[in-house]
Amino acid sequence: MANPPKTRVDVHVHLTRYWRDLAGTAYRPDLAYTPKGLLAELDRAGVGTALAIAIQHAPNVAATLEEGRSLLAESGGRLRLVSTVDPTSGEEKIAEALALWAKSPELTAIKLFPGYLPFYPHDRRLDPVYEFAEQHRLPVMIHQGDTLERNGLLKFARPIEVDEVAVRWPRVQFVLCHLGNPWVDETAELVYKNLNVWTDCSGLLPNPTVRYFRETFEQARSLLTSVVATVGDADRVLYGSDWPLESIAMAVNLVETLPIPEEEREKILGGNARRLFRLD
Ligand SMILES: [Zn+2]
Repeated sequence: MANPPKTRVDVHVHLTRYWRDLAGTAYRPDLAYTPKGLLAELDRAGVGTALAIAIQHAPNVAATLEEGRSLLAESGGRLRLVSTVDPTSGEEKIAEALALWAKSPELTAIKLFPGYLPFYPHDRRLDPVYEFAEQHRLPVMIHQGDTLERNGLLKFARPIEVDEVAVRWPRVQFVLCHLGNPWVDETAELVYKNLNVWTDCSGLLPNPTVRYFRETFEQARSLLTSVVATVGDADRVLYGSDWPLESIAMAVNLVETLPIPEEEREKILGGNARRLFRLD
């Protein structure tokens, strides 16, 4: 595309000093893992804005905010701040997180990592977090499905476990990350049934050097198409890459080649995210 629209939004990237094993997990071992490197990739794919999501390995909430603020400044506002909290860290730590977030108008969303960390999304310890999200109109993104780490516990990361909180907190917007892969049918049902549930299609593509990359790409396309078909529209489906795991260009290409009308594809590539995260 000669002049791709900068209105596109990648809702799921990670640019953090706490990322472990970059060389082993990035889609390319020589990746420029810097704001400059990321912005160049976003530019090439016509993506204007990305949500830079803190990860569960950050030492504390203050560190996620500090890192997020510096990315926001360094990128001229293009890399948005998404913080995270570990609900198993205790009531006091959660209260500390809320106090810090309350003083952070730059906060764009909150991310939770069930599966990587041993808790269910309907864990009552999260009630203050959901209450805060409701009050401040902050979407809550929830890791779903496969974990990059072998010691993760998948039972905590199933979309069906989000149903209860989606019902309990109807004014909170929830994003099921990675289409809930491999439980994509559960994700489609949750998005269909709960009008406050969204999903992102990040992290579906393997490293481009694996033997069955082409087949996996086709599989991801058909999974994504099946979610849109089950829900009946693409209004709550969001483009994301999970960079550095996927190249931005390839992740965009996955959406651009979906067999659905172009205006639906552009909603996935940006319009939906701008509405959900109030980016305009
Ligand atoms: Zn991720």
